[in-house]
Amino acid sequence: MTMETMVKKSKMYLAGQWVLRENLMEVRDPQDDSLIATVPAASTADMLYAIEQAKEGFKLSSELPTHERIAILNRAANWVDAHKEDYAETIAREGSKTIKEARKEVRRCVETLRISAEEARRLHGETIAFDQMPGSEKRFGYYYRFPIGIIGAITPFNDPLNLVAHKVGPAIAAGNAIIVKPAPATPLSALMLAEAFDHAGLPAKILSVVTGNASEIGDALVTHPDVRMISFTGGLTTGKAIMQKGGLKKMGMELGSNSPAIVLNDANISDAVEATVSGAFWAAGQNCLGVQRIYVQEAVYASFVAQFVARTKLYRMGSKLEEDTDMGPMINEREARRVESWIQEAVEQGGELLCGGQRRGAFVEPTVMANVPKTCKVVKEEVFGPVVTIFSVPDLDTAIRESNNVDFGLQAGIFTANLEHAFTAVHKLDVGGVMVNDSSDYRIDAMPFGGVKGSGLGREGVAFALHEMTEPKVVCFQMSK
Ligand code: NAP
Repeated sequence: MTMETMVKKSKMYLAGQWVLRENLMEVRDPQDDSLIATVPAASTADMLYAIEQAKEGFKLSSELPTHERIAILNRAANWVDAHKEDYAETIAREGSKTIKEARKEVRRCVETLRISAEEARRLHGETIAFDQMPGSEKRFGYYYRFPIGIIGAITPFNDPLNLVAHKVGPAIAAGNAIIVKPAPATPLSALMLAEAFDHAGLPAKILSVVTGNASEIGDALVTHPDVRMISFTGGLTTGKAIMQKGGLKKMGMELGSNSPAIVLNDANISDAVEATVSGAFWAAGQNCLGVQRIYVQEAVYASFVAQFVARTKLYRMGSKLEEDTDMGPMINEREARRVESWIQEAVEQGGELLCGGQRRGAFVEPTVMANVPKTCKVVKEEVFGPVVTIFSVPDLDTAIRESNNVDFGLQAGIFTANLEHAFTAVHKLDVGGVMVNDSSDYRIDAMPFGGVKGSGLGREGVAFALHEMTEPKVVCFQMSK
């Protein structure tokens, strides 16, 4: 068998049909650049076809009784669960995650789909007291939530399965049609999710997963007037471009961050080290919630830094499919070179490299820095790589001020035994979520999730996405006099 014939030629899921195309995109394993599959490079015509078919899909979806939506979502969850090791291997091969990280993502995807099934039965409205307005005494009514229509979902490479499930699950629970455009680096996991829905009996045309480059199919999806909502997860620059192009439609924007963690004198230092090391280097730092800046109060700074560096040095970087690997490569060598250049900039500006800093191919060592000027990219931009900077701060106020002194605000962590300090941080941190005695990257799939400032607009987390993907319809009966 030649190398060529070992490469899987995957089809894409276009309005319920599995189709091939002559134009192909290669899916490569970032750790050795080996070719693992090809997928169709969809054309603008393919995307327009998906949208056309989704109009009918929306009709079918909105007419599906709730019990059928629930059953389909539960069957899809069961399918993913029954094939969890295949899903995990796919995530680990096409993306950056180690097999252990990938298994966690699969467990969360099952959870996301099961929560979607549960939330489908909780699409509530409420009655309205129309008689609060003089002259409206003889009126009675209520509102209920109805599906928004066709949703365009655009997803990034770093959680290639569960982030897609966070859009597809609520969209189907609400009775919408949805077209997914996955990241070109990691389309296989999204296609496998479509497979789960196909097996679960989702009527054709409700879901499409259209593989291709945004330069060819992005505008067709984003600007089409029949697509009523774009649910985007990705970088700030891309998010802004989509917002500008989209026109009159709903936009969900789940963007990046450079999340802070605050460690106060009264914190349990070893717990804080354990949580923030994992938070900084999970998925090789390619995590929108990853810990990037740590503000440690002066009295415990030296001890925290020593323990953090010692723990980081134990991190095993290597092959993603090995059970004892802690951290894999970045998504490609280009991204790894970018991160390397940002580390170099910080060193040139006087930053101190405490450990790591080296790159080999797409691998960047877990890197810890101190005394980095706050104008450097590794502090003020989103690194999206395995680099963390630690700062010494005199007090909580300074830590909060520095934490907020960036253009992002997704989540933050604070480690303290003092309730007043914890509440002060909760109130003053400019973010979408504060984790007390935990890293910024703590998340469960049922909680509201999203950011402020450059980190986005709107919230995901199944019930919250369901809300965004529906609109209220008001009904008012005028009684006979
Ligand atoms: P990205 O470069 O912004 O790409 C994300 C997706 O957008 C890809 O599918 C990309 O496709 C598509 N895209 C790019 N330009 C487009 C356009 N003009 N119109 C339509 N689609 C377009 O992000 P990434 O590098 O894959 O992911 C990393 C980013 O995602 C980080 O900033 C991270 O923080 C963020 N993220 C946020 C969350 C969250 O929930 N808040 C979660 C995970 C990741 P092409 O590649 O074909 O252009």
